[in-house]
Amino acid sequence: MNGVVDFSLESLPPLREVVARHGLAAKKSLGQNFLFDLNLTRRIARAASPATAELIVEIGPGPGGLTRALLAEGARKIIAIERDERCLSALAEIAERADGRLQVVEGDALDIDLRALAGAARPARICANLPYNVATALLTRWIETDPWPPWFDRLVLMFQREVAERIVATPLQRAAYGRLAVLCNWRCETRILFDISPAAFTPPPKVTSSLVELVPRAAPLPCDGKLLSEATQAAFGQRRKMLRQSMKSLAAGDAADLLARAGLDPTSRAEEIDIAGFAALARALAEIRF
Ligand code: SAM
Repeated sequence: MNGVVDFSLESLPPLREVVARHGLAAKKSLGQNFLFDLNLTRRIARAASPATAELIVEIGPGPGGLTRALLAEGARKIIAIERDERCLSALAEIAERADGRLQVVEGDALDIDLRALAGAARPARICANLPYNVATALLTRWIETDPWPPWFDRLVLMFQREVAERIVATPLQRAAYGRLAVLCNWRCETRILFDISPAAFTPPPKVTSSLVELVPRAAPLPCDGKLLSEATQAAFGQRRKMLRQSMKSLAAGDAADLLARAGLDPTSRAEEIDIAGFAALARALAEIRF
């Protein structure tokens, strides 16, 4: 190029080369399973339709495979939060070529107030190939966000398939249905978009992954989130027991009254109760407590 440096995104070297050059040997402790397949990262990015958001928040960009795909799919602005400082120089090379569309923040996503970081940008969206060791903790935090509807209009996230199944489960999928499903589906419409085989990652994880979409409901069934959380904890904490037994931890002598107020059969078990039932239980709990 006659000494002229090419500062386009297309001029970036292949990801494997980036990883080798920056010494980014994957660390298990940081849940690092990288994606190098451009077709796959483009497919994930497309699922988040980045061009239609003012801001995409990406957690754990690593060497930047998904980040590059989000930019290529027309992301207007990305804030990418990465905990591993070894990745920062590789991400800086992308930022240099992104016309101000990429801001990298070094830190632990569990400690960062994403809402404050997103500021007034709307619509804002979260898209990530999440580190599996903190994936559910991050998701729960986002779902418990107040006020609701939240600052994000959609979550497009990669989980281990087993976690994805627990997110989208209904009472029909008894084994997978639990607290996570109640919480997520109370506030969001959830669905699995597609699966990704272990072979797509470097290093390959032991299990299949799934991309999950969560779209916040404008008006979730009315109930207090903390009481809903308490009710699901008590019910699923003893999931084989009938509610008349498991509810004793919530309402010692009043379990029968609590269930009658909620309109629930005292002989039913947690895994038979749908979201509306749990919301009714949380409302009944509010009545007897306050
Ligand atoms: N996005 C890259 C990709 O798809 O190839 C990397 C995904 S890898 C599964 C997870 C990334 O999250 C790693 O880069 C890891 O360093 C980062 N990470 C792990 N824990 C984190 C945390 N608490 N906050 C922010 N990033 C974290």
